[in-house]
Amino acid sequence: MILNHVRLIRELSSGISTESGFVRVEKDMITEVSDRPYPLADETAVNTNIGNTEDIDMVDCKGKTLIPGLIDLHTHITVLNQVGFNCLHSDMELLTTAAEHAAHYLDMGFTTIRDCGSIHRVANEVKHMAQIGLIEAPDLITCGRAVMLTEGSEDHIMAQHVHFADTVDEVRKAARQEIAEGADFLKVFASGAAAVATSVPEQSIMFPEEIRAAVETAERKGRYVAAHCHGDNAVRNSILAGVRTIEHATLISDETLELAAVQGAYLIPTLAVMHISDGPRKDYWEKRLGPMFRHCTEKMAKAYEMGLYLGFGTDCAAGDFCYDNGIEFRFRRENCGMKDLDILLQCTRNNAVIAGIEDRVGMIRKGMSADLILVDGKPDLDIRCMYHRPKLVMKRGKIVRRM
Ligand SMILES: [Zn+2]
Repeated sequence: MILNHVRLIRELSSGISTESGFVRVEKDMITEVSDRPYPLADETAVNTNIGNTEDIDMVDCKGKTLIPGLIDLHTHITVLNQVGFNCLHSDMELLTTAAEHAAHYLDMGFTTIRDCGSIHRVANEVKHMAQIGLIEAPDLITCGRAVMLTEGSEDHIMAQHVHFADTVDEVRKAARQEIAEGADFLKVFASGAAAVATSVPEQSIMFPEEIRAAVETAERKGRYVAAHCHGDNAVRNSILAGVRTIEHATLISDETLELAAVQGAYLIPTLAVMHISDGPRKDYWEKRLGPMFRHCTEKMAKAYEMGLYLGFGTDCAAGDFCYDNGIEFRFRRENCGMKDLDILLQCTRNNAVIAGIEDRVGMIRKGMSADLILVDGKPDLDIRCMYHRPKLVMKRGKIVRRM
């Protein structure tokens, strides 16, 4: 297939910048990227309508911008909008609901997502179903259940998607079990959680040696650790223990930002999860999340100025689909002062490097997986066009969404 008359962005297309080039896709791979339009022998013989027929081998993209499929490094497909908690009575319903919600990510152009803890480890199964082509969904990177020490009530909804472990030995055992069950990485809760009323986000709830135990166990099996961290101490302890990705980093201090820069730890802010929608508990959430949001956006603006290699995640909040409507893009632009092109790099190239999958995705280049999206606008110059659904989404060489 030829995607013709595409606008390409230099930073995302291996140095090729053009207002009208083409990209050739064969099977599931990108095999050619050109800064010129595809030469047509007979212009009238080609199908020029994006919305047409199944077996088109040429798509006229009419100068729209082609970028790599987006990557979301922090979500929970079973917790989005509380979906999983409504079907705890049936494992089959949980599985189909999780698969359906994973597939929704394609609507917004996300072709790779990382699930940071799923009810009954069901994201592992959805990943497998997507891999063998049983369902149409983004590629998933999964951790099974997140490792968490006893915190609050075990019968709280949290308990459904975490693996309780206290002490170094229990953390090691939980880590080994999650890896044995198919985890690609390990997720630990180094601080309290914002979404749980009895939990205190500022508190550093894991001992440094427990975090270290998770890191060492993961490394022995070629995995890495992602740590949920709101409080500054939790961020610091996690960086010093060798954690690869710091999730949220909400209450990070200037000193710990410096440490992250020196140690090369990756921060994955998830601003969208602090978006407060209208509802009966709006005041409660404003009081709980408002100060966290203001602190986080101020520090992420600073991290950005310092040149830290920032990732991109959205997470999930009750009642909202955080990846939808471009909330994460908007907060980074309006509240952190990040440049449009840099935000675009964060959710493509940066995330691919952070997740260690940059040899396959995150860039338009010969030999990469044909995970591509066509955007109506120039997102490198004005990211606001990413608040809407892309015109076309291609996953491994197959057009899976178009409008
Ligand atoms: Zn999360």
